Amino acid sequence: MAKSISLEERKRNLHSDRCETGMSDELPIKPHTQILVLNNSYEPINVTNWKRAIVLLLKEKAQALSKRVIRLVNYIRIPFAKIVAQTPSRAMIYKRDNNKCQYCGATRSLTIDHVIPRSKGGEDAWDNLVVACSSCNVKKGDKLLEQTNMKLARKPFTPYNKVQFSLSGNQVPEWQEFLFV
Ligand SMILES: [Zn+2]
Repeated sequence: MAKSISLEERKRNLHSDRCETGMSDELPIKPHTQILVLNNSYEPINVTNWKRAIVLLLKEKAQALSKRVIRLVNYIRIPFAKIVAQTPSRAMIYKRDNNKCQYCGATRSLTIDHVIPRSKGGEDAWDNLVVACSSCNVKKGDKLLEQTNMKLARKPFTPYNKVQFSLSGNQVPEWQEFLFV
């Protein structure tokens, strides 16, 4: 049976030049990048640098789910984020939707659209407000989505914590599935 390497040895290896340059493919996570940290419940709670992520893995406090995502072994209680309970501001909707029309992808002449129009009982809520360019907004008018041939790029969601909110619109494909649940 192969002799297991002690934690200290693994840490030493980690800091050796060999590891920094030639051995990076063997690391469970992608070096020199930011790593998404998920709670045990898969809820995103933090973004950390790759070295801290490695330490969490070595201490067996986390497991790697992919090269850019780790998950904590133990559930960490996080105070309920007020952001979720609030009626979102226009700026929050713009940020969540990455300043893009959710119907056509335009980035200019942006407005806020009620997916279910106000006149039909639609509320000012996270799951009913999306960014829309003025021409899509006019095209949709007072109609329900089903009455148009327009499609949303993504179902409007309520961010369940600040991390998810602040990472909205990031460019890491491996993070997406954990951010929009
Ligand atoms: Zn549009």
